[in-house]
Amino acid sequence: MIDLARKKVTVVGLGRFGGGIGVTQWLCGQGAEVTVSDRASADDLAGSVAQLEGLDVKLHLGGHDLDDFLQADLLVVSPAIPQDIPPLKAAGQAGVPRTTEMNLFIRRCAAPIVGITGSVGKSTTTAMIGEILSRNYTVHVGGNIGKSLLGDLDAIEPDHVVVLEMSSFQLEQTEAIGVSPKISLVTNLSPNHLDRHGTMESYAGAKQNIFRFQGQSDLLILNSSDESLADWADLAPGRVDYFDPQGEPFDLQVTGQHNQFNAQAAWAVARELGVDRRIAADALRQFKSLSHRLQLAAEGGGVKYYNDSKCTTPGGLIVALDAFEPRTVVVIAGGSDKNVSFDEMGSAIARRAKGLVVLGSTAQKIAAAVEKSRSDPEPAVCSAVDLDSAVAAAVELASSGDVVLLSPACASYDMFTNYQQRGDQFVELAVRFAAGER
Ligand code: ADP
Repeated sequence: MIDLARKKVTVVGLGRFGGGIGVTQWLCGQGAEVTVSDRASADDLAGSVAQLEGLDVKLHLGGHDLDDFLQADLLVVSPAIPQDIPPLKAAGQAGVPRTTEMNLFIRRCAAPIVGITGSVGKSTTTAMIGEILSRNYTVHVGGNIGKSLLGDLDAIEPDHVVVLEMSSFQLEQTEAIGVSPKISLVTNLSPNHLDRHGTMESYAGAKQNIFRFQGQSDLLILNSSDESLADWADLAPGRVDYFDPQGEPFDLQVTGQHNQFNAQAAWAVARELGVDRRIAADALRQFKSLSHRLQLAAEGGGVKYYNDSKCTTPGGLIVALDAFEPRTVVVIAGGSDKNVSFDEMGSAIARRAKGLVVLGSTAQKIAAAVEKSRSDPEPAVCSAVDLDSAVAAAVELASSGDVVLLSPACASYDMFTNYQQRGDQFVELAVRFAAGER
């Protein structure tokens, strides 16, 4: 493994989540000479930059400088940025080695890794697994859930368990090191991120890296009722097990059938690691909703406001609707376009929602998908220019006993910095409207 002391390392893509910040801090701790290169401006990245205060790091923000790429001994590239931008291509041609935050971690991790991927439910399932396993093990939870575990490396012992949420972008890059987790869980597969992966095949191919490099005794856990995963068992080099989304239910605080699903998936991992079902059930009973995932934000005038800003897929919106009584939900949806179909979601909204407020780049596409699926009664549909007026319009459509639900089914980048900012803004508005302020 490369000794990083005094090596020139360029972190490409600081970002606003855990990965770029965590790897920069860790590289400094290793004695590397670190440069951070990001297309976004210092203003846009102010929150992340603040977390680097006191570190000896060169910050080249607001655009990439080719020298930072060509003069580096190593590039640590964020999986979120397009992998074919010109400076990366040039560095590739010049033979500059590159890696990712996750690959650096996996190569150095002393404990067995449980890896979780899927199109939806990854973070919730990851957190549930962490909660259950913490009853029997010392557990480290991180990855795409928003925490780099590089800083924990010194504390991770071989008898601990690491629970790592792995996105398709991160998995696309693990191929370079040819390592898969000891236990891999795939929750489900539906079209997502096709703007980046191009085809479903390439998206699925990236996800399959979660088990492609497993050994014979390693385990792949699949969803027994997801037909798109049906032939994955044949590709697995190790053992295969299944979780049954309709398995014996757990008593949960978190709402919605999809959380039963997530609990069943989490239980399948815990079972493999020898946890007693009663212990798992107790941990799951105490599990609280993660922020921005069907989180009750406010309640007032008989209306409940739910923040589901992390819902960035049509499938996510469908399950969110299913979590409530039919025709009691006024849903706010729309955002930036990932090139996925809204047809199925449109018909679910037509069948189940009381009202729909659309906003963002996909507003018209979503409204059209609902209109196409004529239903009786038809949900009221209106469009808004910003979140403020969207919540106001939703409140107009809701009566006592109803739910105002932000479940965008799309990414947030057209109008917000990220889904957290969108969700936080919704929560503020919800609190105001629930208190009767306009
Ligand atoms: P991910 O990490 O895959 O994005 P999360 O657990 O963060 O998944 O949940 C994201 C959104 O997807 C939430 O808004 C939630 O309402 C919805 N969701 C969560 N679990 C499931 C599931 N098992 N099936 C479908 N939708 C889900």
